[in-house]
Amino acid sequence: MEHIIKIKTIERLTHNVKRFQCEKPADYAFIPGQATEVAINKKGWETEKRPFTFTSLNESPNLEFTIKMYNDHSGMTNELNTLEVGDELIIDDVWGAIEYKGPGYFIAGGAGITPFIAILRQLHKENRLAGNKLFFSNKTEADIILRPELTSMLCSNAIYTITNEQSNNYHTGHINEQFLKTYVDDFSKHFYLCGPPQMVEALQDILIKLGASPEAVVFEK
Ligand SMILES: Cc1cc2nc3c(=O)[nH]c(=O)nc-3n(C[C@H](O)[C@H](O)[C@H](O)COP(=O)(O)OP(=O)(O)OC[C@H]3O[C@@H](n4cnc5c(N)ncnc54)[C@H](O)[C@@H]3O)c2cc1C
Repeated sequence: MEHIIKIKTIERLTHNVKRFQCEKPADYAFIPGQATEVAINKKGWETEKRPFTFTSLNESPNLEFTIKMYNDHSGMTNELNTLEVGDELIIDDVWGAIEYKGPGYFIAGGAGITPFIAILRQLHKENRLAGNKLFFSNKTEADIILRPELTSMLCSNAIYTITNEQSNNYHTGHINEQFLKTYVDDFSKHFYLCGPPQMVEALQDILIKLGASPEAVVFEK
């Protein structure tokens, strides 16, 4: 079922990521990690639906989206980038594969952090973050979304890696077999994967090889 919601605030989080706080329809509920199809309520864009994850908590009066804009072609996120407070979005019912199943390792690439923002915020609120670690891979330091909040929630259990530039502050290089052997203490815990498809596919195979149980690897491309 479609809902039309107004944008209440827009904030820039990085050079190409914005946070949209929107109205929440009555009786609309989701589990942290879930997403919906979103279109822009503007002539010509009403049927251009794209999936985005709720980054707010279900109990929040707003629906929050944290969205990376691609300005290299005239896709939907390029158009989202032109929206202003008071403009409207069209959203569908909720869906999504990522759901918290127990303590473990959250592995994100770029905008793949969004389902984990919701899950980690919920766990933080309930004081249940112990036993969880985040590995967050980005091309450059400037690409890291919400680093202060993630670090304040997870402290030294938020581990960043930078793939496309040398970093004096963080690990440099992709999350690969060596990285996982270094930073994972217990392969019997859960693994939550979200990022570019090639990253998710490669890491699924490596995790299974290193001893993770296939049922314990929760992923979304
Ligand atoms: C379940 C789920 C949840 C998601 N949640 C989020 C979220 O919370 N936040 C978020 O930021 N993203 C999220 N995404 C990803 C998001 O849906 C996509 O980034 C979005 O659909 C891109 O739409 P678009 O029309 O701008 O780009 P599209 O046209 O769909 O293109 C996407 C990609 O292809 C490239 N591309 C396509 N056509 C061209 C072209 N002509 N020239 C150059 N490059 C091109 C773009 O650069 C980009 O890398 C989620 C995806 C899924 C599946």
